[in-house]
Amino acid sequence: MKILLVEDSVVERYEIGRHLSEWGLDYVSVGNGTEAVQLMEAPDAPSLVLLDWLLPGLDGLDVCRQIRKLGNNGAYTYTVMLTAKNRKQDLLMAMEAGADDYLAKPVDPSELRARILAGKRILELQQRLRFAATHDFLTNLLNRSEILAALRREFSRSEREDKPATAILADIDHFKRINDSLGHAAGDEVLKEVGQRLGSDLRPYDVVGRYGGEEFLLILPGCDLTTGRRRADEIRDLVGKDPFLTPSGTASTTISMGVTITSFSPERSVTEILHQADVALYEAKKNGRNRVEVFSPAIQAFDRPKGKSACKGRA
Ligand code: GH3
Ligand code: MG
Ligand code: MG
Ligand code: MG
Repeated sequence: MKILLVEDSVVERYEIGRHLSEWGLDYVSVGNGTEAVQLMEAPDAPSLVLLDWLLPGLDGLDVCRQIRKLGNNGAYTYTVMLTAKNRKQDLLMAMEAGADDYLAKPVDPSELRARILAGKRILELQQRLRFAATHDFLTNLLNRSEILAALRREFSRSEREDKPATAILADIDHFKRINDSLGHAAGDEVLKEVGQRLGSDLRPYDVVGRYGGEEFLLILPGCDLTTGRRRADEIRDLVGKDPFLTPSGTASTTISMGVTITSFSPERSVTEILHQADVALYEAKKNGRNRVEVFSPAIQAFDRPKGKSACKGRA
């Protein structure tokens, strides 16, 4: 947890900062509201803000409102207003502007520490809830709606920056056989391990999510089709090369993959991209499994029975 201290008095900034360091907390401090807002706009913005009310330029209330407007990509920002004002109406005003708590000035160190601990607990709870809402409970990968949101983001980025991303639909081969021979619990173990192997060789900005039962969607930003295909093949190899050990026995498992890119054109859509990846995946299944196929209009036109989907149940 990173803390932002916004305080225009050099003496108080120093005093509060000294306590924060003593308690081993990671913090940055600024002396005015404009700098505070700039810091909060950055991608790795602090999650707890100690905010003086009276500041030159933007005051504490303005900063508070800005923080709420920014939204911090869905992560919560906990704000504690530091103020000599203690009339009930003033406190209400601070809460209405988005403050979570307040602390009377001059700041008492024990009270400050207590407020920070309370804030930290709320932030941790919020992070856990957010993780649960955006991740698949079995594999801990992004869930279906989040990976689709990531695909939508990459698709609009392709339009803005004219840079494609590779989209890969991966499906475990003959997964039903694992459930049938080793049981559903062992199948779950294999799913978890496949998820882990899929994510083990990704770059920080690549994303992988559980798209459906035993299907996964990977997005590799900045990868053209040639690179995307090569990387898909490396990932396929990584998933299938070692056996999967489960409490009920050992299974060997491979995956098939369908690859396409997100490059933008007015007639394309996210649905179309998914459809292309699915068509390519069907081709990989048809051509023997444990392989990667790239979408091309030719496969679509000649090879695929109408309405047939590799992702069974969604054709
Ligand atoms: P193919 O190579 O054609 O993809 O064959 P498959 O057996 O993998 O495909 P099919 O669609 O016939 O079966 C998918 C199986 O995945 C059926 C379903 O019970 C299983 N499955 C889906 N979700 C889960 C899960 O969360 N846990 C377990 N254990 N099995 C799951
Ligand atoms: Mg002040
Ligand atoms: Mg399958
Ligand atoms: Mg499937």
